[in-house]
Amino acid sequence: TKKVLVLLYGGRSAEREVSVLSAESVIFAVNYDKFSVKTFFITQTGDFIKTQTFDETPKAGTKLMTNGTIDASAIVSPASIYEKDAVVFPVLHGPMGEDGSIQGFLEILKMPYVGPSITSASVTMDKIMAKHVFESVDVPQVPYVALTDLTQIDEKISEVADKLSYPVFVKPANMGSSVGISKVSDASQLRDAITEAKKYDNRILIEQGVNAREIEVAVLGNSDVKTTLAGEVVKAVEFYDYQSKYIDNQITMAIPAEIPDDIMTKMREIAARAYRAVAGVGMSRCDFFLTEDHQLYLNEINAIPGFTEFSMYPLLWENMGLSYPDLIESLVDLAIEAFDIRE
Ligand code: ATP
Ligand code: MG
Ligand code: MG
Ligand code: MG
Repeated sequence: TKKVLVLLYGGRSAEREVSVLSAESVIFAVNYDKFSVKTFFITQTGDFIKTQTFDETPKAGTKLMTNGTIDASAIVSPASIYEKDAVVFPVLHGPMGEDGSIQGFLEILKMPYVGPSITSASVTMDKIMAKHVFESVDVPQVPYVALTDLTQIDEKISEVADKLSYPVFVKPANMGSSVGISKVSDASQLRDAITEAKKYDNRILIEQGVNAREIEVAVLGNSDVKTTLAGEVVKAVEFYDYQSKYIDNQITMAIPAEIPDDIMTKMREIAARAYRAVAGVGMSRCDFFLTEDHQLYLNEINAIPGFTEFSMYPLLWENMGLSYPDLIESLVDLAIEAFDIRE
């Protein structure tokens, strides 16, 4: 009998559109000799809507149902996704998807799920928390100031003046896809950038801006951690913002990245170390900055990275000889392994 894969997509975060694209790639790549796929759309307000079921590769051009095409009255109870022996793939990014909340819900339902655990999702989703954990295992990072108490904005602004130099990047602690992030080139714009980030979170990170190449390593595994050769995001723009990531497609990838062997090795070692430090489960994309004088900094870990067939994470594995359909299968196996350890 085929294994049922329950795909959750959409979601409450500002990254819901990316999620739909990732989930659409997954339905085309799944090996339907082994799986059937049931999909649920999560609306912006958090309602679950049962959408399509696939027993074979969908016709070219098939779209998953989303805002314009769902039957908004077909809301189901979130717990109704339960099905014995099914595996859930939450193809969700950002808050309420990549932050431990869905993962906790799936553990209560006693369902195996692809990707990060509660801990690895929540720690990596909070950029400030992640910085503290990375520090504890000597992972190199850019200097930063953490604003965790909004009554202390003035104090933190003077701390920025003491510790950092412009440009700086201002980021909501909990977000992704560059949403809410500003590059600030002088002190006069800092308050506005904080106000923008505050729309998304009241924990705010102010980071030293660096002029650097952006190089990423894919990690896969539970206790047995595997890494890929790194790939480079070659930017046509200076700041890889939402517009350039998803709308203008101003990005090309170099896989593998053209970097010296010793840096490649070091990056993979740091990626694995950082992944273990955040209790990594399933997968992650570890994003680095590499400056011209070969300073290496870990920028962040994305516990549910962009997962379209053209996304960096699957392409990095393809370069290692693991095809996109096989990657999905490996993730399902890891989900079951993690579940068996929990239960
Ligand atoms: P993702 O979509 O990868 O989850 P994110 O929203 O978590 O992104 P970051 O990766 O922290 O955000 O930042 C987005 C982009 O902004 C980076 O890819 C890079 O182009 C730029 N950037 C962020 N921080 C810095 C920095 N300290 N110095 C230089 N550029 C930076
Ligand atoms: Mg991120
Ligand atoms: Mg992200
Ligand atoms: Mg990033």
